[in-house]
Parts: sequence; structure tokens; C-alpha cells
Amino acid sequence: MADRTVFIVGAGFSANAGLPLQSGFTKLFLKAESFTAGRSRYLMPLLRSFVKETFGFKSKTDVSSYPELEDVFTMLDLSANSGHHLGVKFAPAELRKVRRMLLSRTIHMLNTSYLDGKKKSQREREQLLNFIAKLSPERHKFVSLNWDVVLEGCLGELQAAFPFHYSPEIRPATIDEDEDELKTSRINKKAKSLLIAKMHGSINWLYCDCCRRAYSVPVENVSRLGVQVLKRDEAAELYGKKAPRRLECPFCGVDLGVRLATFSYQKALRAPMFESSWLEAEKALRYADRWVFIGYSLPGADFEFKYLLKRIQLARAESPEIYVVTKADKDRVSPTIASYTKFFGRGNFTVFGEGLTLDAIDAITRR
Ligand SMILES: [Zn+2]
Repeated sequence: MADRTVFIVGAGFSANAGLPLQSGFTKLFLKAESFTAGRSRYLMPLLRSFVKETFGFKSKTDVSSYPELEDVFTMLDLSANSGHHLGVKFAPAELRKVRRMLLSRTIHMLNTSYLDGKKKSQREREQLLNFIAKLSPERHKFVSLNWDVVLEGCLGELQAAFPFHYSPEIRPATIDEDEDELKTSRINKKAKSLLIAKMHGSINWLYCDCCRRAYSVPVENVSRLGVQVLKRDEAAELYGKKAPRRLECPFCGVDLGVRLATFSYQKALRAPMFESSWLEAEKALRYADRWVFIGYSLPGADFEFKYLLKRIQLARAESPEIYVVTKADKDRVSPTIASYTKFFGRGNFTVFGEGLTLDAIDAITRR
């Protein structure tokens, strides 16, 4: 039965739909400082003051000296989670507020760039849709390192004949338009559903700190979660009467949070929603005949995920067939291909170096 494939997708996968790669991320992130409309602009003054005080970033124009997002999150997480100040001006409570604002801007940004990408019909986007149109929940599963909802959105655009799910711990929910509140959805247990195990969480997930249930909302509701990630009083202070109504847990009525796992995420991963995603990914990888990496560079920051891949690969009687779909510059050594060589060994994987071309799509979806 050589037809079970797990697609492991990273930022390069979503870049096909117009989302920023790490290099373009900061530029797009800071663009909100000059916005004259929308919710992001209110978040920017505190974020700017934080990177100025902490990393000495002062420029209005030179984006290249902006600190690595990885460093920003790591300083925030390690300090706030251990209950310590980061310098005189930032006490743990303030650091957590900065973190929520950073996530809020990120959620708005990922959502807007997906919606903007939808309006432009680029060749890459067409190819991505071609690929997604060939998926079948019987043969394919996804492990995603992304926070964005590009895959889910494209399945919706294509009106896929099958549903998708994240893990048994994450309940699909909708926002009831009349009552403006969160309602859990009915799940059709008979329909075969496509697994999307999201290792770092997703911008459409909500988490109840009280009963520890997690919910996912439709792609259309993501911008609302960009506000929900802030505390109730923070949203009220920034947006006043324009703040959308808070979403509460349908079971216990507690104000819901949005949790995303950042780079120093060991702690965050202990929440049930993350544990169950990692378990689903493990099961999928264990039984798949093929592992197909798309737009993922095996970065060092994902060391826990790389350990998961390695121990599953080595515990199997037979290693899976490994494919790498990436965009490699023909004239230079591709750093992505080099990381796969170092991690899996030379000659142990097949490369498609021009992204999701028709040939690549045929090869990775063939039976
Ligand atoms: Zn609850």
C-alpha cells in the first residue's frame, strides 16, 4: 500500500499564496506603523518602544537592523515565563502585554496577506491550488509548522469535497451571527477528514485557560482573533466601542485566549491542544510511506520537531521515501538542500528545486 504521504509544510509553502518569507516578514510587520486605518496601527507604538529599549532599534527606514523575531520572542518568553523583568522598564506583566500585541500584529498581518494574495492571481498561487485540488484524506496528511491558515483557506476556495481536522482535542466552532458568540459545530464523523497537525498552533485557534478545551474557528473569523489575543481591558483601551464582543468558552463562560507556540516554546507545548497535535503528527509520520517537505528549511529553532523526525525515521524498519520541494537558486548552493543533506544524508532524498511545478505535483501526489 505505497500511497500514504505526509506533507510537512513550512513558510515556503504559504509563500505560494503571497505570505511573507522570513526575509520579508519584518518589512511587512513594520508597515503597520504608517497605516491610517485598521487595527494594527494601535499596536505599533508599544512594540516600537520595546525594540528600541531592548535592542536599540531606532531607524524609521532601515528595516535590516530590526532584531530577529526569534530573538524578540525568546527574550519576552524567557523573562516573562520565569517571572523576571527585562531591564528596568519591562516587568513580567508588561512583557506579557508586549507579547500579546506582537501576536496580535502577526495574526492581522498573516490574515491580510492571505486575503491580499487571493486578489492577485499569481502563477505560484495557481500551482498551490493545483496541488491542493489533488489531495485526498484517505492518502494524505499534513504536518504544518505554520501559524497561518493558507491550506485551510485554499481548501475552502476549492470547495473541497471533504472536511479537515486538527486533532481530537481541537473542536471546530463557529461564531453565531445572531447572538455573536462562539458555538461548537457538529462533526460529521462518517466523512473521511484530512489531518492538518499544526505543531506551533494556528491563528484560528482559541484556548480556554479554565477547562483547557481548544476551539478552531473558520478562516473568515481570523481577524477577530487578532483582537481576542489581547486581554479584555487592553482591547477596550485600544479600540473603545469598536472592539468586537469577547468570545467566551461555550462550556464554562471564561474569556478565551489565543495561544501560539513561539521559538522558546517548551512550556507552551504542554497545553493539551499542542500535545495532541504532536501526537497526531507522530502517528502520521510513523506510518507514512512518503515524507514530502514543502517550503521548509529544517531550521535550528525547530530542534524539538527535528528530534521527532529523526527518532521516528530511525525507529522504523524502513525509512520513508523523502522528497524535498523547495525553490533553489541554480547558480548557488541551496542552504535548504544543504540542511537536508546534513540531516538525512547525501542521496537519501529526492529534490524538486523549482517549487510546486506540475512535475513536482505529479510526483508527490502519485499513487
Ligand atoms: Zn472552558
